[in-house]
Amino acid sequence: MIKTDILIIGAGPTGLFTVFEAGLLKLKTHLIDALPQPGGQCSEIYPKKPIYDIPGFPEILAGQLVDNLMEQIKPFNPGFTLGERAETIEKLEDDTFLVTTNKGTKHNAPVVAIAGGLGSFEPRKPPIPNIIDFEDKGVAYIIRDPEVYRDKRVVIAGGGDSALDWTIFLADVASEVTLVHRRNEFRGALDSVERVAELTKLGKVNLITEAEVKELKGNDHIEAVGIKHKTEGDITVDTDYFIPLFGLSPKLGPIGNWGLEIEKNAIKVDNSYDYQTNIPGIYAIGDVNTYKGKLKLILSGFHEAAIMCQSAYQRIFPDKKYVMKYTTVGGVEGFDGTKKEAKKEVVKAII
Ligand SMILES: Cc1cc2nc3c(=O)[nH]c(=O)nc-3n(C[C@H](O)[C@H](O)[C@H](O)COP(=O)(O)OP(=O)(O)OC[C@H]3O[C@@H](n4cnc5c(N)ncnc54)[C@H](O)[C@@H]3O)c2cc1C
Repeated sequence: MIKTDILIIGAGPTGLFTVFEAGLLKLKTHLIDALPQPGGQCSEIYPKKPIYDIPGFPEILAGQLVDNLMEQIKPFNPGFTLGERAETIEKLEDDTFLVTTNKGTKHNAPVVAIAGGLGSFEPRKPPIPNIIDFEDKGVAYIIRDPEVYRDKRVVIAGGGDSALDWTIFLADVASEVTLVHRRNEFRGALDSVERVAELTKLGKVNLITEAEVKELKGNDHIEAVGIKHKTEGDITVDTDYFIPLFGLSPKLGPIGNWGLEIEKNAIKVDNSYDYQTNIPGIYAIGDVNTYKGKLKLILSGFHEAAIMCQSAYQRIFPDKKYVMKYTTVGGVEGFDGTKKEAKKEVVKAII
């Protein structure tokens, strides 16, 4: 049985940063993730895509952010159960929780932090009859490594942020990028829509709207897509890759059966205080939770992790009073005894 102070379900950016915030409070952490590697969506869906809205980083690749988080939490020596899905939860007589994975690994903690993001990743597939035949033969639902598409012809389908962002990114990588979308309007950020329009004018993107990919052609590998246009009829575009980006259908998975209050596939939490769920001792942070005004962004998960850990500390040590210190004053002391000292000048400045 693995015992810890805070058991974190989900090792995405939110779960990883929870280790840091808990570590500052001298709380031990252990993470469970169904995926074989930490990083959640950042590692699994877009490791080579730049992120521009992490405070203090004008631009950082999603994979690099995960590497940095792993470096930042190293002193706190968290435990990991990777490649296993948290399946069941049980409240024990001593008021702690027992979480068991699909492989039977048991974890015990007084506090559980669910940082399960989108849950299990299930890409939405377009209804093209032979699409399954071309999976891994030119059809991809997630772009893991954009270098695969260097100097290749790519057809992307979709009208949201993901389709727009990758169209913009691949315009400089692929030899030819075609974006196919059902409507004339896009659901993505205005900025990205404008950029795609610019690239289309420059001839770097071939934009086909009011159209849908209906057919895939090829033998051992995809060679062309058949597109049905609303007014122009059938169009064939030769391509090496077809990437439908219609988002991921959120599936909470087993967590949905834990007796937690769920709204639109997300866990309802108390955001007036500490992101606790309807079950005391179980918190939900990051993309997995919902409350009025929720923003599904990495920075929201970081903030929620910090607040949640303060509340968890009070739950674990009801008689102790914790006085919050800036890391610039106290430094960061890990469980392995290493200490990153705060710089003296900074301390002086704060005092
Ligand atoms: C293409 C794309 C671009 C994006 N760009 C940005 C951006 O520029 N800026 C930004 O702030 N955000 C961006 N996002 C959103 C951002 O990635 C998410 O907000 C962030 O990943 C949420 O982190 P998380 O840790 O809460 O959840 P996730 O990253 O979803 O991690 C959750 C983890 O929990 C695991 N899990 C779930 N259920 C279980 C279970 N039962 N047992 C074990 N493990 C489980 C999953 O396997 C997963 O690894 C983007 C998302 C996408 C898809």
